[in-house]
Amino acid sequence: MNTLHKTWDLETIFEGGSESEQLHSYVQQTEQEISKLESLVHSFTSPKNTDQTKELSEIVDQIQLVTKRLGEIGAFISCLNAQDVNDKKAGAWQSRQNELSAAFGNLLTEFDQKLVQTDEDVWKSLLKNAPFRQLEFILDERRRAAKDKLELRQESLINDLGIDGYHAWGQMYDAIVGKLDITHEGKTLSVGQASNLLDSSDRAVRKEVFDKLQKTWKAQTDLFSETLNHLSGFRLQTYKYRGWERVLKEPLEYNRMSEKTLNTMWETITKYKKHYLPYLKRKAHMLGLERLSFYDVEAPVGSTEQTMSFQQGAEFITQQFRSFSPKMADFAEMAFERRWIEAEDRSGKRPGGFCTSFPDSEQTRIFMTYSGTPSNVATLAHELGHAYHQHVMDDLPALNQGYAMNVAETASTFAEMIVSDAAVKHAANDTEKLTLLEDKVQRSIAFFMNIHARFLFETRFYEERKKGVVSAERINELMVEAQKEAYEDALDEYDPTFWASKLHFHITDVPFYNFPYTFGYLFSMGIYAKALNSDSNFENDYIALLQDTGRMTTEDLAAKHLGVDLEKPEFWEQALDLCMKDLNDFMELSAK
Ligand SMILES: [Zn+2]
Repeated sequence: MNTLHKTWDLETIFEGGSESEQLHSYVQQTEQEISKLESLVHSFTSPKNTDQTKELSEIVDQIQLVTKRLGEIGAFISCLNAQDVNDKKAGAWQSRQNELSAAFGNLLTEFDQKLVQTDEDVWKSLLKNAPFRQLEFILDERRRAAKDKLELRQESLINDLGIDGYHAWGQMYDAIVGKLDITHEGKTLSVGQASNLLDSSDRAVRKEVFDKLQKTWKAQTDLFSETLNHLSGFRLQTYKYRGWERVLKEPLEYNRMSEKTLNTMWETITKYKKHYLPYLKRKAHMLGLERLSFYDVEAPVGSTEQTMSFQQGAEFITQQFRSFSPKMADFAEMAFERRWIEAEDRSGKRPGGFCTSFPDSEQTRIFMTYSGTPSNVATLAHELGHAYHQHVMDDLPALNQGYAMNVAETASTFAEMIVSDAAVKHAANDTEKLTLLEDKVQRSIAFFMNIHARFLFETRFYEERKKGVVSAERINELMVEAQKEAYEDALDEYDPTFWASKLHFHITDVPFYNFPYTFGYLFSMGIYAKALNSDSNFENDYIALLQDTGRMTTEDLAAKHLGVDLEKPEFWEQALDLCMKDLNDFMELSAK
């Protein structure tokens, strides 16, 4: 590979950053396209027979066009915002983009409602017509979802009231959290900064910060129980009017998976949990403790000194990718060489990492801060996995490119796994190896126990909330009960105010922001298991699977490409067995 740049190239998308003339005219053109869609949707009458395909096909084409253009604008703006948090002009573009997306969203709702009015038989035959055949799943899903809702006027009212009701409670939560701070060693820290100290290798620091955070959150639980009760109350009330009895209906449909799959996944995980108990004990001893507390579970057991320059990291990643899939390796090399990655370690950048797609120019950009640690290398591989997922979908119709959260992490986790496995193999010595292995096991614990606790808590909280407002004390109680169950009673001290400190319970865009994480992790683990045992055809099978992630249910996806039934335990067991391998390696090595 040539000498790599650590900064990305956004000029090939739109020249001139947030002052870009090109962006300006692209946004204007998009506004015109939305107006065109508006008149098409307004004059559209629900098809009465299968001959009425022209109007419908025109609208579908226009929807796909606008989807791509809004995606392109949104991606560019998020790149501008991330590379320079002080770019005010980028912030202004963001508001413009929000307005356009809202207008587009309203048109889609209107369109979907008109589809509902089409007779079932006519609809079914329409979908078999040439222009719609490949969009059959997605169009039918839209119609079914609209059918499940109230009529247009009532849904619009809910949406509009939600801005100052539902979503406002989520924003109120953010506003209160933003004002909280703690004092540590004479310094004032935001709760976010303080939470980072919970990863400290010094037990005394962890304990002190944890106690201070508990005090801070506890002092505010009355306010947070208001935000959570009202937010969930709004959600439940909406469900009631729509006639939805099950709280999990919305998150399951959003993730295109069945309740049986979800239950089978958790049941199988629960069966395997006992294998992790000796690990938790071992880790406690390594940290000089009798038992771990909630704030010890993610503490580091050692440190790795080995770092890789960006160039070395890039070469290591592409080399490891190549042994699984030459196409994925070629793609990564291209992304590095064309400067699709922003990795520079400098101030003024947003923290964290992401991958964003430009559906119109069929490119992606990765954002992160790279300082050479093994975890940076893993993140880089993770984001390249996301980018590759998009890459193989580039030629598909825009409507078939939308995949849900549970499969969104498939390609990324898969790519990360390849690289972290290789890192363990290439570790310089046993201490290094132990640290890397522990990191992998810790990740499993997060998905199997921490996320499970969130899921148990959220399900039970919503059930109680149906009967009325739940007090702060009771919410604390529900939280600890869920943690004890999810961690098999293995910990010394739990985190009763976890529900207040975790943003995920207060997100209003997507309900139940928990189980899709665990699903994605184990789903890609299952694919990885297949890759390890597979013949030369794996690469093409993998690409075909990724290409279908936006146009079928998760169960169909797994049956078609992996030949497995997600509603039965076998697939999950196979994935969990792979996690057991890391666990056993860790137990063996740490016994020395
Ligand atoms: Zn990801």
